[in-house]
Amino acid sequence: MLEENISRRRFWEKSTKAAVGALTTSFSMSRCRSQERVASEIERYNPKRDGGCAVAFGYDMDMPCAGVEYLYDRNLGWPRDGECVANGHLNEDVRTYVRLLASISEDYGLGLQFFVQGNTFEETEDAALWTEIAGRGHAIDSHMYNHDSLLRTPVEEIRSQLTKTKNLIERHCGTENIGLRGPGGYENALHGREDVQQVILDVGIRWVTTQFQRSVQGTDQSWIDMIPSQQPVYYPTGLLEVPFCGHQDRSFFDVDMGGSPRPVTEWSSYLEGCVNLALKNNLWLSLTTHPSTSFKHDPQALYLRNIFDYCSHNPDIILCNYQDLFRWLSAEKNRV
Ligand SMILES: [Zn+2]
Repeated sequence: MLEENISRRRFWEKSTKAAVGALTTSFSMSRCRSQERVASEIERYNPKRDGGCAVAFGYDMDMPCAGVEYLYDRNLGWPRDGECVANGHLNEDVRTYVRLLASISEDYGLGLQFFVQGNTFEETEDAALWTEIAGRGHAIDSHMYNHDSLLRTPVEEIRSQLTKTKNLIERHCGTENIGLRGPGGYENALHGREDVQQVILDVGIRWVTTQFQRSVQGTDQSWIDMIPSQQPVYYPTGLLEVPFCGHQDRSFFDVDMGGSPRPVTEWSSYLEGCVNLALKNNLWLSLTTHPSTSFKHDPQALYLRNIFDYCSHNPDIILCNYQDLFRWLSAEKNRV
């Protein structure tokens, strides 16, 4: 209790007078009265220095391609490699679910982070959805045009897909695209792939989130225990890496990634465990979720309300999105 008070005071002391005014206004207008810090209003934040922790949810817009049964049967995994090509075309269920996720986060004064494949803009209804979601203040960044691996795709093809997707995001959403989620996630991130890092930087992307490490033991606690080693880092090229922290919802729930059809209450408990550890160790917590997976396990997105409620009752936890993480981390880098 004492520690919480100290870290909170330290943070407020470091805020500018103007920022505090903005925060106070946001707080008084928010439906969630205990969430005093609104991420978009905070110019600088570093949990190691300021106390507390930052919690960001990133939603990857991959879609299965083998028919709608995937969406409704929690025992089914995704089609195996080679059976089809995953694409970013959504269906009405998932479009509705995205709007639900956005509405829930708006109740907490938060903009969510979505990573979209460029090919989603081939569909008129999808393009209209992303224009709407961006207009509501949510963050939209790239997930390649066709969900191809950054490690297995020729660099010139990566350049082409990133450029095309960036142009589409910027045209339809009206926001600059400088973030990229690496399709699939990679154990060793982009370390040793300076050629890929350079192409990414060349097209104007400044931060990536590519590292996904599997727990050897596979228990919920062992996934949580890995999070302190999954913190953001700058590659020597100047590109920022924001690793996936712990499970994806797919590795938790989907059988093709080693998950199992568990009750959503266990997912909520797992997420609370992640937040508790991040708070105790003053960490950045960057989580990875998929509307196409979450939808079939939790069509009302109860887990999102649960974890936002849980976080918003502690003023030392800052709910944010990946663009906020980049903003704060780059401010720290430029300070030195
Ligand atoms: Zn993906």
